[in-house]
Amino acid sequence: MKSNTRPTLIRRMSVRSTVFYFDSQPPSEARFLMEDFRLATNGAIRTGLRTGVTSRNALCKLAYKDSRRELPGLYSNHHASAIAVAAGILKNHRRRMRAGLAMRPPYLRRLMMRAENQAYKLDRKEGIVDLPVRAGLHVKLKLVVSHYHRRYLDDEAWSLGSLTLLPDRVIIAFRRTPPKPYAPKSVLSLDTNERSLDGVFLREGSSTAVRAEFPDVAIIQQRHHDRRKRLQKKKANDRRTARTLCKREGQREHHRIEYRLHQVANTILSFAKSQESAIVLEDLTGIRHKKSKDLNRRLSTWPRRELHRLIEYKAEDKGIPIIKVDPRYSSKKCPMCGSVQHSRMGTWSEFACECGWRMDRHINASINLLQTASSKGLAGGLWFDPGAFRHDAMMILYEPAMAARSEPNGMSEEAVVPP
Ligand SMILES: [Zn+2]
Repeated sequence: MKSNTRPTLIRRMSVRSTVFYFDSQPPSEARFLMEDFRLATNGAIRTGLRTGVTSRNALCKLAYKDSRRELPGLYSNHHASAIAVAAGILKNHRRRMRAGLAMRPPYLRRLMMRAENQAYKLDRKEGIVDLPVRAGLHVKLKLVVSHYHRRYLDDEAWSLGSLTLLPDRVIIAFRRTPPKPYAPKSVLSLDTNERSLDGVFLREGSSTAVRAEFPDVAIIQQRHHDRRKRLQKKKANDRRTARTLCKREGQREHHRIEYRLHQVANTILSFAKSQESAIVLEDLTGIRHKKSKDLNRRLSTWPRRELHRLIEYKAEDKGIPIIKVDPRYSSKKCPMCGSVQHSRMGTWSEFACECGWRMDRHINASINLLQTASSKGLAGGLWFDPGAFRHDAMMILYEPAMAARSEPNGMSEEAVVPP
């Protein structure tokens, strides 16, 4: 009775997995360490398959002694870590089995090793990882440390999580409890579209329509989509080459879009922070493509989800509250009279209602999102009147011209901060 009446509020830890490359060729011991780790992991996988044990603890009890006996040279903490990796692989394997996907027994193919935070040391100032191999033998890995890495290394609030060693890089997880979000003094409600975020900004006594435009994202997507189509046609007889080329295309597209999304997110968040705003976004989980004739021409929804992901994690770092709301009917509802339109009234870009309400469709959707948030008492108790939004005034939060360079080639100066 006492324990489950009210859930305790535990604030989620933020985890950032950060990639570091080596400053100099790692010593050969690093390679031996990964090879031993792989052996230990595959040994534990075999034990798991043989005994049918599913829990990580049970697997550890069963496999630890064998692992120590077979690889006596390996530091004891690494055995436990290898068994944990094996348990993860087995879990994944069982899931695939249930889905009818996995046929062959699993096996760790790639060279890697994982160390929990008690099993390695990091010199945060110098960027040197100290990794024990066995008693009396440690490998030191000198890492390339950039401005980006310094954010985590220099801030003691980020504690160390696990380390993953790969032949060409290490991935270190940094963890911390995020700062407590502030109590908002204003609200920024944003409707997410293919080419823009459209919304309203609401402060005590004033309200404005806002927009952040990123038309180039859809253009890039379209261009790469066409290019992939052409590649597949051209290389129809050589599927392997086609796959390689398409993959490369995909990565290029990914980088170019990602760069733009970062800029959009940064601009919006610095505005929100300066106004002490909460940000209202639609909850995109569970939204599928609408069935339409031009389904195959529709661009993927990835950039929109990615933009939300960036806004959310950056907001968490800055202590900006994010409110996610169910977007149902947000594009069909009239915020003035509350009626839901099942057939479309108004023009292509304008929402119109029988009650006389007219508004840009995207802005209208964001007003509905704000109304949902506010009806649940999530919008900081701000009172708002949809009628106060003037259609003609629009504040542009971001547009592509604000980016100082159009391509992320690293050649030109820093992005210009909009006024
Ligand atoms: Zn109406």
